[in-house]
Amino acid sequence: MGELLVHQFRCRADNFGLLLYDPVAKLCASIDTPDGETIWHELDTKGRQLTHIFNTHHHYDHVPGNEMLKERTGCTIVGSKNDAKRIPGIDELMEDGDIYEFGANKITMLETPGHTLGSVCYFVEPDKILFTGDTLFSMGCGRLFEGSAELMWQSMQKIRALPDDTQIYCGHEYTLSNAEFALEVEPDNLALQQRAEEVRSLRRARKDTLPVSLATEKATNPFLRSDSREIQKKFGLEGQAEIKTFSATRALKDQF
Ligand SMILES: [Zn+2]
Repeated sequence: MGELLVHQFRCRADNFGLLLYDPVAKLCASIDTPDGETIWHELDTKGRQLTHIFNTHHHYDHVPGNEMLKERTGCTIVGSKNDAKRIPGIDELMEDGDIYEFGANKITMLETPGHTLGSVCYFVEPDKILFTGDTLFSMGCGRLFEGSAELMWQSMQKIRALPDDTQIYCGHEYTLSNAEFALEVEPDNLALQQRAEEVRSLRRARKDTLPVSLATEKATNPFLRSDSREIQKKFGLEGQAEIKTFSATRALKDQF
């Protein structure tokens, strides 16, 4: 692992505040701004100067602190070109595959539409940290507010192609209820049973269930596992295109 530090804390009811800190270059980025005052307090407590905001999408619980934090710190706000009109105070517009130099680190924007049309993830190298916003949750994925199942499926493939030891940070602590749903569609998955047990005990101890490795997600997240025979069988879609199983899984989750 490299030198970067990630500080994760709760904002609002179930959002995560996330501060990415490079102690060498003294750069500090907030991933989204679910609550400006809470983020301001954490920056103060840690003695850090905010230099950047990286927004994952435009939803009201991901951008409300943008303008206040920019006003107080003069930070640079980075976001997707596709969401330029919907992200308050945006300065730097990025497209799929664009790289932002963050000290000696590289932050690659991955366009991952589905939850919204402008949703993106940020992949940080060399540390292999992925910020997924509301696109991927541990054992879950975002609701399809704007995009189609096909778009979200393609976004899942993009995430699945990253290195297995990538550490994933998400926008919300939804893991426990996601685990219950995952067990509903794939009850015989041993890795899933183990992760669900781990998550139950973490939540009992009031601890966060994130970050999680991509390897663990590939083994347990039903939305990354549409090739699983057990899940395909659950929907009567054995041997058919994986997108069909993905779409059926997303539809069932909406009613769960
Ligand atoms: Zn959202």
